[in-house]
Amino acid sequence: MSVARVPATDRAVDAPGEGVATVDARSSELRPDKVGHEFLALVPRDFARAHLILSQGRADGVEQLAIAESTDPAAIFNVGVRLAVKVHPVIADAEAIARLIDEVYGRSAEADGAAGDENDQYDTADIDRLLAEADRDLLSTQGKGPVVKLVDALLFEALGRRASDVHFQPLDDRTLVRYRLDGVLHTVRELPRKITSAVVSRIKVMGRMDIAERRIPQDGRATVRIAHRAIDLRISTLPTSYGERAVVRLLDNAHQLCESFRGFEKLGMPPEVAERYLDRAGRTNGIILVTGPTGSGKTTTLYSTLRRTGSSEVNIMTIEDPIEYELSTVGLAISQSQVNTKKGITFATGLRHILRQDPDVVMVGEVRDAETARMAIQASLTGHLVFSTLHTNDAASAVTRLIDLGIEPYLVSASLSAVLAQRLVRLIHADCDGDGCDECLGTGFLGRTGLFELMTIDESIRELISSRASLAILRAAAKAGGLRTLREEGERLVTAGRTTQAEAKRVVEGAG
Ligand SMILES: [Zn+2]
Repeated sequence: MSVARVPATDRAVDAPGEGVATVDARSSELRPDKVGHEFLALVPRDFARAHLILSQGRADGVEQLAIAESTDPAAIFNVGVRLAVKVHPVIADAEAIARLIDEVYGRSAEADGAAGDENDQYDTADIDRLLAEADRDLLSTQGKGPVVKLVDALLFEALGRRASDVHFQPLDDRTLVRYRLDGVLHTVRELPRKITSAVVSRIKVMGRMDIAERRIPQDGRATVRIAHRAIDLRISTLPTSYGERAVVRLLDNAHQLCESFRGFEKLGMPPEVAERYLDRAGRTNGIILVTGPTGSGKTTTLYSTLRRTGSSEVNIMTIEDPIEYELSTVGLAISQSQVNTKKGITFATGLRHILRQDPDVVMVGEVRDAETARMAIQASLTGHLVFSTLHTNDAASAVTRLIDLGIEPYLVSASLSAVLAQRLVRLIHADCDGDGCDECLGTGFLGRTGLFELMTIDESIRELISSRASLAILRAAAKAGGLRTLREEGERLVTAGRTTQAEAKRVVEGAG
């Protein structure tokens, strides 16, 4: 192992309430036997590796830290907070630090592996036990070990339950753990108030967020391994009056949802609607909009459409915020790009760049403003097929929304090809007849399907749009042309015994 001789820096960092430490520069050779056990136990390997920071033992109650030139001062500070001691950083060779991190964490993982096999499976009893342990241990040893296991177990359980998100919501006397399941939040557990900040800190460490900063919202991403599965997480924290609230999105489950919708047929679109929709989606130009609130499955529908209609003979390009699913992994030749407002890439500028790349099919994540709408229309009128989404309650409202954005009616009329309004409705759990069982968490529902309202723009509707017809007139014309409303489609599922009246009503609330 190479040894780096390094000068002491003046970057001594105080943990809260401690004085400044100094250390002799000559004691700062990197040595595996000097790495503190506490550091290994409390600072995750990913964090150490990301920030190139590693313990070199403790002298007079001061943790000596080897750091790289590039190490973020906030990371050094966070380690001090985490270990609850003052720390003294000394700059060493970055590669040597990285190698030593791999060496010492590898060893400690092996040691854990022998005893840690109980982590392979979690069930409800485990979580209750871990919760008790975390609660008890917090008093004696700060309980970071049990807290780590508790968070792992909660995420693992959420994964198994097919939850898309886990919320940690602090109240005045306790913290609710809530899973979003088929689009609806369920409180599955309550954590004692006193372990809340440890749990949220653990989640923030996972997301490589600044654990010392509790007053501003933060977000992060992480890939964690729980019970031999790599799980992608998107993490967000927000200060509230009762402390930090954290939401962990389980991207795995979001992907699974997408995977299960892989076949266009599985979207739940009635055949006669699918036929008219795919006719429009198979043309070489025009704008196709999918509308509905957040979480109504718009992206999944568009991805499934691209999969269905895309071929190697066309150039498909997207600008999204964020990229929900890498479509190239399912064999589609596609170039996906992501909005990055810090770097000046918005939907509108991204679309402008895409149009210089000779695309045939373009997908724009969302039309939020007049600039994006104009670009999309221009793209369509110059011979491109454009897919996008809008936040409107029903199909006809998309027309009036575009006009409200300031787009001339004749341009909307000339470019719009079809509008598909959609919702996701929960399906009655067939195994328990909707009575509620363990598998459906007592809800009586398992899985969801789409409700669709398709408005294809034909000659008569084009004329109405050009003449600024009212929403009511547009709706009536579309219905006369065969449009079935979301409400009617919901009723159809209720009659077929696949969902409940209340559920259908819930999801089409606000629809025309
Ligand atoms: Zn059930």
